[in-house]
Amino acid sequence: MPQIIDGKAISAQIKEEVKQKVSELNAKGINVCLAVIQVGNDPASSVYVGNKKKACEYCGIRSESYELAEETSESELLELIGRLNKDEAVDGILVQLPLPSHISEDKVIAAIDPSKDVDGFSVNSVGALAVGKKGFRSCTPAGIIELLKRSNIEISGRECVIIGRSNIVGKPMALMMLEQNATVTVCHSRTVDLASVTSRADILIVAIGRPRMITSEYVKEGAVVIDVGIHRNENNKLCGDVDFDDVKDKCSYITPVPGGVGPMTIAMLMHNCVSRYLEN
Ligand code: NAD
Repeated sequence: MPQIIDGKAISAQIKEEVKQKVSELNAKGINVCLAVIQVGNDPASSVYVGNKKKACEYCGIRSESYELAEETSESELLELIGRLNKDEAVDGILVQLPLPSHISEDKVIAAIDPSKDVDGFSVNSVGALAVGKKGFRSCTPAGIIELLKRSNIEISGRECVIIGRSNIVGKPMALMMLEQNATVTVCHSRTVDLASVTSRADILIVAIGRPRMITSEYVKEGAVVIDVGIHRNENNKLCGDVDFDDVKDKCSYITPVPGGVGPMTIAMLMHNCVSRYLEN
């Protein structure tokens, strides 16, 4: 049987550390604040935003909520971001994606001051990661690094295969694994003979967005398998990109869905909100 990596427990530990840090800061008269902007009322986005606000409350971070109408113009949103950039009381700015189609996500992300880009999506943050400089790390891949480290899984020198090359998961994941001295291969929709590449992996990170696509023939005996996917199956139950039941007996460690990578994303967002205080 593999070891199940407990993302719920590890994320709770990280939120506890953030809470402790926030209370130390409060004792010195410093408050931490995250501005959360949602445009429109997409139900999934409302759930994500609600969960982020709840996590802020738990950690003692003040969340300042901006719920804007669907018709909000790009320039109105950019103007709000400009104001929040200048507001010294605001530590982080989060714009919930996706945005309505009349607003350019690229422009909006670029408008966030790099020192407040807690999602780590800006060209500035990703560039800093690429050249090994300090900066905000994208929350989902940063959460995966924490899952591996806190489960005492060796990364350095090991063969890591990532399936998926999205800007928010696959690409930053590859850079972060490289930073941890793994030997990294990135697979994607044009990869020829995917299974022959993935079955080399000591650490296989799966971010494809296709329910239970990865079965045991893609996995090397004893591999560590990290499943980023989140889907609802035919019975409306959550499942990942990995066929957990088929793969579990072949690997040494595996993340479940739910309770694996999912909870780490918000925990790392909380971490990013206080990270500038941790470095001092
Ligand atoms: P995406 O759709 O942007 O990217 C999918 C990637 O998979 C692409 O790079 C594509 O080239 C690759 N791909 C698609 N089909 C393939 C195939 N047949 N073979 C090989 N590669 C293939 O997705 P994303 O935003 O990176 O998200 C991936 C999954 O992770 C989704 O299920 C998403 O819901 C989930 N997700 C979870 C979290 C979390 O917090 N747990 C965060 C972000 C994304």
